[in-house]
Amino acid sequence: MALRQGPTSEAPPRLEIPFNRAARAGNEQAYIDAAIEGGHLSADGPFTRDCSRLLEEMLGSPVLLVHSCTAALEMAALLCEVGPGDEVIMPSYTFVSTANAFVLRGATPVFVDIAEDTLNLDAEAVATAVTSRTKAIVPVHYAGVGCDMDRLGSIADEHGLLLVEDAAQGLLSSYRGRPLGTMGQLGAISFHETKNITCGEGGALVVNEPALMDRAEILREKGTDRSRFFRGQTDKYTWMDLGSSHALSELGAAFLKAQLEEVERLTARRLAIWDAYRDALADLERDGHARLPVVPADCIHNAHMFYLLLRSRDEREALIAHLRARGIGAVFHYVPLHSSTAGRRFGRTSGTLAVTDDVSARLVRLPLWPELSDEQVTQVIAAVRAFFADKTAA
Ligand SMILES: *Cc1c(COP(=O)(O)O)cnc(C)c1O
Repeated sequence: MALRQGPTSEAPPRLEIPFNRAARAGNEQAYIDAAIEGGHLSADGPFTRDCSRLLEEMLGSPVLLVHSCTAALEMAALLCEVGPGDEVIMPSYTFVSTANAFVLRGATPVFVDIAEDTLNLDAEAVATAVTSRTKAIVPVHYAGVGCDMDRLGSIADEHGLLLVEDAAQGLLSSYRGRPLGTMGQLGAISFHETKNITCGEGGALVVNEPALMDRAEILREKGTDRSRFFRGQTDKYTWMDLGSSHALSELGAAFLKAQLEEVERLTARRLAIWDAYRDALADLERDGHARLPVVPADCIHNAHMFYLLLRSRDEREALIAHLRARGIGAVFHYVPLHSSTAGRRFGRTSGTLAVTDDVSARLVRLPLWPELSDEQVTQVIAAVRAFFADKTAA
């Protein structure tokens, strides 16, 4: 009899309260079974249609379901028709895909600083960064809190620039009543496992400028007009333009449909945890230990993230270690792109990046996921408070 070998090396100990655990809505397995039963596993079957409809109802704009927010950003960069010599203004404090999508087209990311309160693009730094080569601005709605879109929109209008929203973290958030991702010509949303709702890997391109839709569909379908063919608008399909394989499979869409149907409930639970953290940790801010997230009055957020800004990098590292020793996963966030290997090679900076450098060294994110129990939330709060109680006593 053949014996199976066990694992040869020990996995790292599992944290009792991990930083993130993907949401579970309930119907994922049933819908995946239905997709298998139905026999349509590639893209653009009934689950893709249902997900697109649910998203369009939420956003009020047409969407194309894709396999990642990265894919949506890459499609956006193609639709912006940027190339060598063109500049695209964006924060340095973001995920690599924001910049990589435009670098793949040969354009130059111009990194500017973020505002101290929301950690979103500093609109005045954007205005200063505009040159005759600038083609687009890419606001990133950090933590699902909206950027100053009115100011960014007027800068874009003044200079004839495109606005591409990286709304990866922003589903169900809004700015002045407008859903994130629907204010630029294009918006990109993520359904990665780390986001509020997920299908493992997934995303959506929000196409707010109707004139871009035909080309967007072609880019998504390997450069062909297959989407028109499926709708019966042409009797054959062929190679029309640049493109790649950006669509999400029906298996992913089946999982995602279950999550989209429950997005309000899952977000409400996140908001309850976020509010509990804010209420229980408010005095840390009053006593000068840590700054809490800022949500401007004109923004409704989706509790994507709860972070603390500590006084120094050392203190941040000490808090992460303190929580880890108590079975709690807390993590820092972006390494600023302007200081990364590729960022230095492909991009440039405009103005000082002082806030970016400062904040990235001091920020720590606390566990936040829907199945976190009230007891676990209390445990995290107690552990954070104990860390600062020691500081005060010392
Ligand atoms: C998660 C994220 C992305 C990438 O999303 P994927 O779906 O993993 O490609 C891009 N930008 C930001 C700001 C993100 O948070």
